[in-house]
This record gives sequence, structure tokens and C-alpha cells, in this order.
Amino acid sequence: MYYIGAHVSAAGGVFNAPVNAAQIGASAFALFTKNQRRWQSPPLTADTIARFKDHCQHYQFSAAQILPHDSYLINLGHPEQGALEKSRHAFIDEMQRCHQLGLKLLNFHPGSHLRKQSEEETLTKISESINLAHQHVPEVIAVIENTAGQGSNLGWNFNQLATIIDQVNDKQRVGVCLDTCHAFAAGYPLQTPQGWLETFHEFEQIVGFDYLKAMHLNDSKGDLGSRLDRHHSLGLGHIGRECFRLIMQDVRFTGIPLILETIDDTLWAEEISWLKAQSSA
Ligand SMILES: [Zn+2]
Ligand SMILES: [Zn+2]
Repeated sequence: MYYIGAHVSAAGGVFNAPVNAAQIGASAFALFTKNQRRWQSPPLTADTIARFKDHCQHYQFSAAQILPHDSYLINLGHPEQGALEKSRHAFIDEMQRCHQLGLKLLNFHPGSHLRKQSEEETLTKISESINLAHQHVPEVIAVIENTAGQGSNLGWNFNQLATIIDQVNDKQRVGVCLDTCHAFAAGYPLQTPQGWLETFHEFEQIVGFDYLKAMHLNDSKGDLGSRLDRHHSLGLGHIGRECFRLIMQDVRFTGIPLILETIDDTLWAEEISWLKAQSSA
């Protein structure tokens, strides 16, 4: 089964996200479980949690089809101790919220060195942050998203993702979410069938499909290797539709949330039905 959806709004409460997803014909969705631009959010109430679970059941979304995304403020590789601790604390809170909601995945951006520390040290800190979160919260899988490599953000190439995973103690609770826009902007040539095959072959060799827990399906406004994190609607950017058609015909992408973060939400229903129409399973 292909699980296809979008990063939908949770405005008014997380329990609105499954409703919004169902409205666009999605079989997967992503959401923020708190305000993604603030450090503090009120804890989830028992009533909110119950309503969320109820809506998920009603619209038939299991935990395998839901991909929560953490706050943009968190940097799990921060070079300064105080700021690192603040990020780790916030990340544990995010993971705790996922656990309370009965969710199994937490998508996050690995972190950045801010030009104050080596790449190696930063990757090690990110792994340690994941280990720490695992000690505090059971079950939830830390899902590292590849980045476009903008600024000093790490995790833009497969080796960096593998290095983080290598240093995580509980390999059952770490994985990767590949964002097609970010990969393309980081230099992976997803715009041609040959480049697509080579990219995923390389991913299999360096990281491995066992670790692939989700995908973000985005076209790209920036060109190949531009390091620009600018998403576009499917087929309207520099990647083009073929990349997404190939994903929908490859069983390695079944059973995980495939999430649109494309810029025009009025096109999501159409994009989802187009993707479904390309699928082989
Ligand atoms: Zn993201
Ligand atoms: Zn993304």
C-alpha cells in the first residue's frame, strides 16, 4: 500500500489534522503537534488526545500513516551547551507528545554547526541527542530528514545521515525521511531516470532502505545543487513529474508516509489523485 498525503493544518487543535487530511483524499498526513515557531506550547490535554485518536480511527489513519514534524527552532547539534540543552529538552517534549498521541514517528531536521564546530562533532552531538531522547521516551522513532545543505545545515548527503545512524544505540528507533526537493537542491540528480536510479542505489548502499521511514514529495524551485530549500508543486519545478511517477512504481516506497509539502495547498487533492493514478500497488 502506498500512503499518500500532505502536511496539513492542525490549527484549532491536533484533532483537526486527520479531518483536513481526509478532505483532500489523503491516506497519510504530516502535522505539527505544537506551534513550530515557538519554544513553549501548552501540554496536550486528555480531551485533545482522545479526540485526535478518535478522528484518526474514524478516518482510518494508523500510526504508520502519520508523520509528525518537530519545531523549526530545534538544533540537536548546537555548538553551545546552553542552546543544545534547550533544543534537547524541546525535542524530548516533541517526542513525548507523539507518544501521548499514539504516534510512532517524529520527523526532524538534524542540525547545524553554525560555523563554530566541526562537521564530525556536530553529527556526534545529533546522535547523542537522539540517544538521550530514547532514554526519556519509549517507542517513538527519530526520523532524520535530509536537508538542502543551506547555511551550515548538515544531513544533506547520505554519508552524513549514515554517520548519525551509526552512533545511535537503538537502531530500531532511528530512520530517515527523504525530501526530494532537499536531495535535488543538495546535488542528487532526481530529474532524470538515470540520475534517479543512481541516487536511490547510492541511498541503498550508504544508508539502506530499511531505514527509510518516510518521504517528502516536493518539486524544487531551485536548480540542481543550488542548496536552496524552496519547494514547488509537482511538475512545476526543476525536478519534474517523472521522479514522482518512478517513486509510485517502486515497492520500496510502500508502507511509509509519502507527504506533500508543496507550496499550493489548493492543488493537494489533485496531486494526491495524480500520484495514486501512477501507482503500481
Ligand atoms: Zn522538514
Ligand atoms: Zn521536507
